[in-house]
Amino acid sequence: MKKLISYIFPIYNESGNIALLHKTISDLLATNKAYNYELIFINDGSRDDSLEQLINLQHQDDRMAVIDLSRNFGHQLAVTAGLDYASGDAVIIMDSDMQDPPSVSFELIKRWEEGYEVVYAQRRSRKDTFFKKLTAKWFYILLERLADIDIPRNTGDFRLMDRKVVNELNKFRERNRFLRGLVSYIGFKQTAVLFDRDERHAGETGYPLKKMLKFAADGIMGFSTVPLRLITHVGYLISGLSFVGIVYAVLRKIIDPAVTVPGWTFIVISILFIGGIQLIMLGIIGEYIGRIYSEAQNRPLYMISSVFSKKSTN
Ligand code: UDP
Ligand code: MG
Repeated sequence: MKKLISYIFPIYNESGNIALLHKTISDLLATNKAYNYELIFINDGSRDDSLEQLINLQHQDDRMAVIDLSRNFGHQLAVTAGLDYASGDAVIIMDSDMQDPPSVSFELIKRWEEGYEVVYAQRRSRKDTFFKKLTAKWFYILLERLADIDIPRNTGDFRLMDRKVVNELNKFRERNRFLRGLVSYIGFKQTAVLFDRDERHAGETGYPLKKMLKFAADGIMGFSTVPLRLITHVGYLISGLSFVGIVYAVLRKIIDPAVTVPGWTFIVISILFIGGIQLIMLGIIGEYIGRIYSEAQNRPLYMISSVFSKKSTN
């Protein structure tokens, strides 16, 4: 039996792109009959005629499934809805604005057939605004520094995942999700395919600054408690400085009592001492909040790649 490949396309106001996307993908898939294909379009609360266009296309193409979300939930949740629905042996996530060239998906499939379970498309170059390039670059540098896991640079959500990986990913039900981080976290055999990212074909980005900041926060806070731990470090720093201040205040009182205002030494010492202690205590509380946070995320504890035993059948 032929293997099934699922494509997931999140759609938010992509009126100008849907027809071209569907045509490009259809032409591409017609060149490789070795697989069956499933095309999953998730309408993420579009305000244009995206949904009508999708439904019309679906009538003519029964490989297509259209999932219409009740409102705009954001890119990451739209993709999640697609992942929950997909039944393919491999699942490919792509943007719908033609920035991820459909032809690259075949290269992903090729690497998958070589045995890789996650094949992510890595940007060799990108055509975006100067601002977008700059913020993206700094975001990835910061993420690399802070996060507890290695998230490959210059990758978006454009990737192929094996069924095994998708099954594991679907167990992660946290709300503020950063999918590419979760995929790294899950592990399995991963590799990259390089590609040149095109310009958006039509319409405008669904990621204005506000959504971008939320996305960045999900990435960093989802995989790091460094910001919380920062409080403790600042606490130690302030305490250290306070100690110097305290020594100074005491020496001043002993060596030069005439110029010291009565009560000054005591007040200075108390302020410095309490300030440092407070920050350290806040840091300790932060440490616990960090733990509560990771427990609340309720992630599965481990992911199994395979079991070899008398009992297993494969
Ligand atoms: N998208 C979505 N919901 C949103 C925003 C975007 O489903 O709230 C989709 C959008 O239709 C596209 C993909 O996510 O297929 C990437 O979005 P976009 O191209 O706007 O982001 P950019 O490339 O500017 O980062
Ligand atoms: Mg785009």
